[in-house]
Amino acid sequence: MTTGDVLQVILAGSSLADRQWIIELLRSGSRWRFEFTEADTGEAALLQAQGPTRGSEPILLACALADMDAMRLIGRLIDAQGLTPCPVVVITPGNGRDLGPVLLRAGAQDYIGEEWLSPFVLARAVENARVRWATERGLSEQEDARQQAEEQLRQAQRLTQTIIDGAGALVFAKDLAGRYFLTNRAWRERVGLSEQQADGVTDEAVYGPLVAQDVRRSDEQVLASGRLVVAEETTFERGQAVYYLSSKFPLLDETGNPYAVCGVSTDVTSLKETQAALQARERELQTLADNTPDILARFDRQMRHVFVSAAIERMTGRPPQDFIGRTARELGMPADLCDCWENAIQAAFQEACAQTVAFTYEAAGGPAHFSGRFVPEFGSEDAIDHVLAVLHDDTEQKRAEQDINRLLEEERHYARLLARMAQASRLVHASLSADEIAQVLTHQAREILGARRAITQLTLDGPGARTIQAVSLAADANPNEPPHGTVLTASLTGKAGEPLGHVQLTGGPYGEFTHEDRTVLMQLAAIASTGLENARLYASLREADHRKDEFLATLAHELRNPLAPIRNGLEILHRSGQLTGPAARARDMMERQLAHMVRLVDDLLDVSRISRGKVDLRLMRLTLQSVLESALESSRPAIEASRHRLVMQLPTEPVWIDGDLTRLAQVVSNLLNNAAKYTPASGRIELSAQVEGPYAVICVTDNGTGISTDMLPRVFDLFAQVDHTLARAQGGLGIGLSLVKKLVELHGGDIRAESRGLGQGSRFTVRLPLAARTTADDGAVPASPTSRSAPSVAPCRVLVCDDNVDGAESLALMLGLLGHEVRTVHDGPAALATVRHWRPDAVLLDIGLPGMSGYEVARQMRSDPHLRGLLLVAVTGWGTQDDQRRSAAAGFDQHLTKPVEVTALESLLASRLARAAPPAAG
Ligand code: ADP
Repeated sequence: MTTGDVLQVILAGSSLADRQWIIELLRSGSRWRFEFTEADTGEAALLQAQGPTRGSEPILLACALADMDAMRLIGRLIDAQGLTPCPVVVITPGNGRDLGPVLLRAGAQDYIGEEWLSPFVLARAVENARVRWATERGLSEQEDARQQAEEQLRQAQRLTQTIIDGAGALVFAKDLAGRYFLTNRAWRERVGLSEQQADGVTDEAVYGPLVAQDVRRSDEQVLASGRLVVAEETTFERGQAVYYLSSKFPLLDETGNPYAVCGVSTDVTSLKETQAALQARERELQTLADNTPDILARFDRQMRHVFVSAAIERMTGRPPQDFIGRTARELGMPADLCDCWENAIQAAFQEACAQTVAFTYEAAGGPAHFSGRFVPEFGSEDAIDHVLAVLHDDTEQKRAEQDINRLLEEERHYARLLARMAQASRLVHASLSADEIAQVLTHQAREILGARRAITQLTLDGPGARTIQAVSLAADANPNEPPHGTVLTASLTGKAGEPLGHVQLTGGPYGEFTHEDRTVLMQLAAIASTGLENARLYASLREADHRKDEFLATLAHELRNPLAPIRNGLEILHRSGQLTGPAARARDMMERQLAHMVRLVDDLLDVSRISRGKVDLRLMRLTLQSVLESALESSRPAIEASRHRLVMQLPTEPVWIDGDLTRLAQVVSNLLNNAAKYTPASGRIELSAQVEGPYAVICVTDNGTGISTDMLPRVFDLFAQVDHTLARAQGGLGIGLSLVKKLVELHGGDIRAESRGLGQGSRFTVRLPLAARTTADDGAVPASPTSRSAPSVAPCRVLVCDDNVDGAESLALMLGLLGHEVRTVHDGPAALATVRHWRPDAVLLDIGLPGMSGYEVARQMRSDPHLRGLLLVAVTGWGTQDDQRRSAAAGFDQHLTKPVEVTALESLLASRLARAAPPAAG
């Protein structure tokens, strides 16, 4: 402030006169200019002094006040720090010696006793008060500033501590001697020290001498470098290595000299472990990528290779590093491969899903086939950063597949070939003649080998030697086109190696024939050779079989001839009634044996006829009961002879079947006879019949010798006999069951034999189809048992013609006994001559006559108009239906097989002659 400035003075005093007096004193005693604000009360003065701050503090000059004394006024002015808001000068009454010091202590800057008032004193007091107030004030502000600074320091320290305590890292500071003077909570917790313990502690005490040595060395480097050093430090805590990443820097004083090392350490142990694990993973992945046969590659959005595994070198011959940062196109890869990859990469980026590819790469070693996937790799934000490609070389697999396919194709080819060869073989073996075999061979060989033309030529020698030629042409081949291309020939040879002929192919499918074709043709020729051999054997077998049948037929016929006079003789003996006692028994025995023999001969003939297909059934609607009755009729004597008990279970209702009564009766009778034969005396035989579904089922069961398991399947074979000695003892040829089976089958039925073994009895079950309508209707006949008694017939003239003299004579004798007039002749011409002059009513004519056959004789008789009405009966050993047809064609009225049953003959004569006789004759 300069003297030119104005001093503001608040003049407080109740007396106006005093205030004016004082103003004058002050103006006159000072060089200063004053500006006065007057206050007539203490309150007003307080208001002025504590009012808003003006340009500079006013000076309060107080003299006597009515409302409060000076002490009170100061008391109310004084603030918390014991300071007044402005300098205060008090004019005290008297000299102020008592009150003055009190006022100064209370806070006034000066006082003046009234007694001492003068312009000069007053001016000095006011001016000095200003200076004193200002000085006091200044001192007080300095103290405030110091305290404030200290407070700020404390706050800063607290803040620092809070910050470093809050840090996860370990924070510390050590002086040059290595003593910690600043640590944070994390550090202390880590080393296990309290704040007090930490203060001044050394690394040696904390970590031990070895670690401390290292730490110390690093601290010294920091101090020497004078800058921030980041280093990794290892300590051992509780026996475990702990890794820290430490940032250390020197603390410098104002002169720039380091006085401490400060550090921030982060425990990176788990980070290091993670890193180590990560590195191990990476190494593993790298090893995997380097060693997998697949190519792994990673592409960025610009389709550049970011990574590629070592396998790429195998594919392209270029090392992986060549690829990094470049696209396939930039690498000059083939255009189609680039297109394939680029499409897949783009699609993987755009569609965010894996893409499958397959491509071929022309590698140095030939085309390599690859398949693979381009897979999008999602980054942290779910964005696709890269596309990873995994490419697999399928070349080997493809090659293996091709090999397998080729092998499979070959196998299929051979399987087809085999099947066709087998088929050809079947066809050859099914062929029974050389011509057929030649045809089959020619055709099959051409078809199997795909030739255009095949020719087989065979030369057969022996009886009926001849040459056979067979030709087979492809569908589009012209028979006249000359053979072209190579010729493939294979020879056919007989069992002893003799040549039989050859088969020749021309026009192979590919022009040439292969080695395999040759093998196939040779094989076919070999099959055909065997076939020819078989055909030859078959022909001779058939011939032998035919001869056997012929022989059997002839044998039967020849046997019948001698049987005829025996039967006639026995009949004569029977009818003459002359024999009694042992002679009669002998005659009866001879009759039984004769009947047996006749049956054997009949069976023999039947078997040979059936096997030659020469049996016709005389089918008619008949009841099962009639069949059984008829069968029982002929079997009963045998059953009774052995005293067997016959048990029957027959249906009460008629069971209708379509069949040949005689033949079916023969079937059942045969079974019954066997049962009687193969069951020891007094056995049990059961005959049952019933309807089962669409069948009439007949069972013949006995408790006899039974049949062993191994024999069971063969009992129906021709000439099969289980026990030859037994069968022979029982008088059999082993043809009965064979005949039975054939007859049953001719009727559309079947037969089954069962036995639990030897001594266990047997059961034969015959099934016959039921008639379509099971009612008696057209032509149904009941059984008509034959009987010795025949209708008596009026005597007539009978001519017997047979070259077997005994046969002719015995028949004549028997007819004579019956009262007929009989003549005998032994050949055809004699028969014709006798007929013409003697005029018999009937002629019994043998067929197998010497010179002129019976047929011829019959024809001539029939052609003679004078012989009309003559009964012409064939009496012959030949009894087939064929024979019967032939005799009917020759003009015979009847056909009887030898040995003729007298009753049958009598009935025939009776019925015929009764019809022929004139009605009025009697
Ligand atoms: P055979 O003329 O020998 O009787 P078959 O053809 O009738 O000829 O029978 C063949 C064989 O079957 C017989 O030899 C016999 O061993 C056996 N056989 C047939 N029927 C019976 C039966 N009821 N019990 C035991 N064995 C039987």
